[in-house]
Amino acid sequence: MLIAGNWKMNTEANSAVELTHEVMQQASEASPVLVAICPPDPLLVLVNRSLKESRVRLGAQNMHWADSGAFTGETSSSMLQSVGCHYVILGHSERRQYFAETDQEVSKKVKKAIQSGLIPIICVGEKLDQRKSGKEQEVVAHQVKYALEGITVKSSNAVVIAYEPVWAIGTGETATPEQAQEMHLFIRGLVEKQFGNSLAAGIHILYGGSMNPTNAKDLLSQRDVNGGLIGGASLKPDSFGQIIQVAKEVS
Ligand code: PEP
Repeated sequence: MLIAGNWKMNTEANSAVELTHEVMQQASEASPVLVAICPPDPLLVLVNRSLKESRVRLGAQNMHWADSGAFTGETSSSMLQSVGCHYVILGHSERRQYFAETDQEVSKKVKKAIQSGLIPIICVGEKLDQRKSGKEQEVVAHQVKYALEGITVKSSNAVVIAYEPVWAIGTGETATPEQAQEMHLFIRGLVEKQFGNSLAAGIHILYGGSMNPTNAKDLLSQRDVNGGLIGGASLKPDSFGQIIQVAKEVS
């Protein structure tokens, strides 16, 4: 199980350090559950310093595919590694929606992340109208296909996929446990086609979309749900801690 917090564009220096300390506390006895936090880029150095020897891993929320150069405002994989990142969230629906990020761009970023030794948390998920018209699997298959195109990996730990139905992100609505399980199984089948059975069996497929302490148990108990990508609730240490505890209970 992996529980990852996506802080999005929230916190600043003091509150980020405070939140980090609280998460470290919550995660200290969470083994075997893996815990990660993904603060905004300018706070990564500070948060990494606070994490010291903690078992909480650091992640970023985005990166560019190029090594370096004239890309004002962007961040490279080596920059993220140099400040202690282990994970990088790629293709989040907010990046696709507000910054017009395309499947092709996500694909380049995933390739670069893997080459660099970062673990991409690849976000996929359908919009409400796509689910209403029964196209959710078609949409997700397309996103997964692009994101993994041309990728070879040696271990199931090299990639994480997060199923995040867009209609559930930050809305208070969640997929039902059955909807989540159905889609996670479908995604695992797609991964199996590309990477084979044993790798697909071990890959973390996270659910994201308004997960909170009340709905976490039902979602995380599903066979193919291997953790959560948590937005809003990751900013509340008690809620994040309770989700980590639930993950531990059902692991
Ligand atoms: C997210 O942004 O990845 C997310 C799942 O957000 P929330 O938990 O707030 O829906």
